[in-house]
Parts: sequence; C-alpha cells; structure tokens
Amino acid sequence: MTPQSSDSTGTPAPTRGRRRGRAAGPSIPLGSLTQREHRSEIQCQACGSSRVTRLSMNLTDGTPVEFTSCHRCEHRTWEHGGDALSVASVLDKARKN
Ligand SMILES: [Zn+2]
Repeated sequence: MTPQSSDSTGTPAPTRGRRRGRAAGPSIPLGSLTQREHRSEIQCQACGSSRVTRLSMNLTDGTPVEFTSCHRCEHRTWEHGGDALSVASVLDKARKN
C-alpha cells in the first residue's frame, strides 16, 4: 500500500514566451543615403563606372591632359581643356618628340 500522491508533477513550469525578433522595428527607410554627392565625381565614359583613376599628365609635346582610366572595363580617356582626345591624337602627340 503505497499512497501515491499524484501531486508530484506539480504545476507546469511557466514558459515565458520569449519574444523572438522583437516586434519588427519600424520600417522607416534611412533617408540619409548619400547619393548624388557630386564632387567632381568622374565616371567612365564607356561603362559609367565611377571606379576610375584620374590623373593629370603632360603628353610628350607638352600638352597637359587629364588621363582617366577605368578599372572596370579598362576604357581610357584623355582630355585636354574639357575636350576628349582620341587615342589616335594622343599617340600622335606622343610621337611628335
Ligand atoms: Zn569603364
């Protein structure tokens, strides 16, 4: 005769439902995306990439040019006084000395 107390199980442990992923934060888009920071940003004339290297140099004949080289498509441009020079004319100038 063993008195079985069916009381041993006690009350179910209180399971506190931890809220996962706290009630989805407000979906406000960060309105401060720095776009269009037009700081003499140079773009490749061929592919539009801004990953370009720009440097000033003088051609062999003394013409100061801005040389732009694209890292993406390897397009190269030479400019003189805002005008793009063709590769041919650059080579031509380079030959002149
Ligand atoms: Zn390019």
